[in-house]
Amino acid sequence: MKIYGNCKFCKQSIPVKTEAQTRIQLAMQKGEKISCKCPNCNANQSIHVNDFKTQYSKTPQVIAAIIFCTGTLGGLYLGFFVLENIRNHYLAYGACSLLLVPGLAYGILHQEERRRVNAFNQMWV
Ligand SMILES: [Zn+2]
Repeated sequence: MKIYGNCKFCKQSIPVKTEAQTRIQLAMQKGEKISCKCPNCNANQSIHVNDFKTQYSKTPQVIAAIIFCTGTLGGLYLGFFVLENIRNHYLAYGACSLLLVPGLAYGILHQEERRRVNAFNQMWV
């Protein structure tokens, strides 16, 4: 994931890519101070791991939105198909309950992302 530190000179955020999920992992992998180069003013500096923060990434939101749209459309289509062709109410209810799946998937993805961000931002070395 991407973590962000602030440049000591121009205060711009400096993105750093890492495999670490928490600051503790980050400190173990790269040491307590991470040397990086500001993309704005090109100044080399070392930033303490506690000064990095992570942000919500857009990717899970995009994935969730796609799941939500296709899932909802699919569920509706299936629901209408079942209602039109089969006069079986249980099947119709089943198809309609498929509508809950995309919402559920969105919720899980969102929660997972929140857990990730909190795990990083709330643990200090
Ligand atoms: Zn800078």
